[in-house]
Amino acid sequence: MRELIERLAEEILSSKWTIALTGAGISVESGIPDFRSPGGLWSRFDPMEYAHIDSFRRNPRKVWEMLKEVFRLISSALPNPAHYALAELESMGLLQAVITQNVDGLHQKAGSKVVIEYHGNHDWLVCLECGWRRSAQDLKEEEMPPTCKVCGFILKPSVVFFGEPIPWEAQIRALEEARRCELMLVIGTSAVVYPAADLPRIAKSKGARVVEINREPTVLTGVISDYLIEGKAGEVLPEILKEVKKRKDG
Ligand code: NAD
Repeated sequence: MRELIERLAEEILSSKWTIALTGAGISVESGIPDFRSPGGLWSRFDPMEYAHIDSFRRNPRKVWEMLKEVFRLISSALPNPAHYALAELESMGLLQAVITQNVDGLHQKAGSKVVIEYHGNHDWLVCLECGWRRSAQDLKEEEMPPTCKVCGFILKPSVVFFGEPIPWEAQIRALEEARRCELMLVIGTSAVVYPAADLPRIAKSKGARVVEINREPTVLTGVISDYLIEGKAGEVLPEILKEVKKRKDG
């Protein structure tokens, strides 16, 4: 593992365009469970059921039972050392963008500036009937589920549910980054949710090196990624940053 961390530090320093693609795993150490680990929120609320747009259209009140808990989790979560390490690499000019599948806003909280939110965020509440929207910043628990001021329908947060399209601007920017990068760090994602999972394949097909940081191998390992650094993102990324700084300063 030490050898791979040193190798990646070298590659970060020599790459002219490095990006990160992050998934739920990077926020696990901030207390937000991913979809695949046992226990927690997602063993009570099956994401394929509760996070599907058809479920929301059929029974938004039921989906808001899950959303209430997600809002509570996200509003109290803080960035962990993995988020901070990426923000620092960006400020050193060594990371050009983060494409995140996460909807928790923790990259921005850690100080990352160029963040492409592929699956939206929890910043807005939108009416699927008439398009009216309000900020979610001041949403109180007693108001949940919040309703539209114009037509009374239950509002949906501006996150991308299964069965919904990716916001076009995020999709275009992410594609450009995937095509342009020389090095892509794929962190804490199982790479099975499409079209996000296509991004490492696109980067690879354009000649980029793809390096995974994950607690375990994924469908990309040994197929798309050049190598996997196996471990917790909150421990591995600060080690990589330390190694980069050591080489840069020395
Ligand atoms: P996923 O749950 O399918 O996979 C998570 C991956 O992270 C797994 O491969 C797991 O081995 C790895 N992992 C878990 N803990 C880790 C750690 N500490 N360090 C490194 N790796 C770790 O998540 P996904 O691939 O992102 O796809 C699920 C979809 O649901 C995405 O859209 C995702 O962003 C969304 N989601 C978001 C959040 C969030 O915003 N924090 C939370 C849950 C799900």
